[in-house]
Amino acid sequence: MKKEFAVIGLGRFGGSICRELIELGMEVMVIDKNEEKINEFANIVSHAVVGNSVDENVLKSLGIRNFEHVIVAIGLDIQASILTTLILKELGVKKITVKAQNDYHEKVLKKIGADHIVHPERDMGKRIAHHVVSNNVLDYLELSDEHSIVEIKASTRLDGHTMMDLDIRARYGITIVAIKRGQDIIVSPQATEPIKENDVLIVIGADSDINRFEKKVM
Ligand code: ADP
Repeated sequence: MKKEFAVIGLGRFGGSICRELIELGMEVMVIDKNEEKINEFANIVSHAVVGNSVDENVLKSLGIRNFEHVIVAIGLDIQASILTTLILKELGVKKITVKAQNDYHEKVLKKIGADHIVHPERDMGKRIAHHVVSNNVLDYLELSDEHSIVEIKASTRLDGHTMMDLDIRARYGITIVAIKRGQDIIVSPQATEPIKENDVLIVIGADSDINRFEKKVM
């Protein structure tokens, strides 16, 4: 099913979202005040408009409220990002995702009712930090301030062991939700499933517990 998205701001972040949505077969309208940006995307999107999104009439005339999801990807101009979000909200857009530049920006966006707030640089920074601290941590997804899902590569120390003999639940309080082994993925593995070196364990739990597990098994 094709969904209709509107992306406001075609910087690196907005541009990348837009290309990916097109790749996924979605209908995308883009708005940017910079004509060069619009020309760059005009051929791949359904509708490309040069316009300033802080002008309510521009958004209204584009029928923005009929889009299922609007993404505000304005970078440095925090004021424009906030004002745009506010207008979208007032026009009754159902779902609004906004890129936040910093924590204050995020606070305001929450207050005015943005449905989803993303911090691409901060989140990517965290993920990369986990990866560089431990080579065995392949990826990291923050669930809350204290909980995450982490992909950990199984070292030789885990080879041949099962979750049962490692007593993972009781000792570390974490759960292995899946094991990736080459092309295969074992979802909800049995406690008796032997782990092999180079398996990728997908672990969910409290950060402190995951850290203890990482240290112990690496
Ligand atoms: P990034 O950090 O994601 O690369 P940028 O700040 O470089 O973000 O890009 C933001 C984009 O948003 C730019 O292309 C800019 O022209 C556009 N933009 C900024 N303010 C407005 C506005 N009020 N209306 C429409 N587009 C805007």
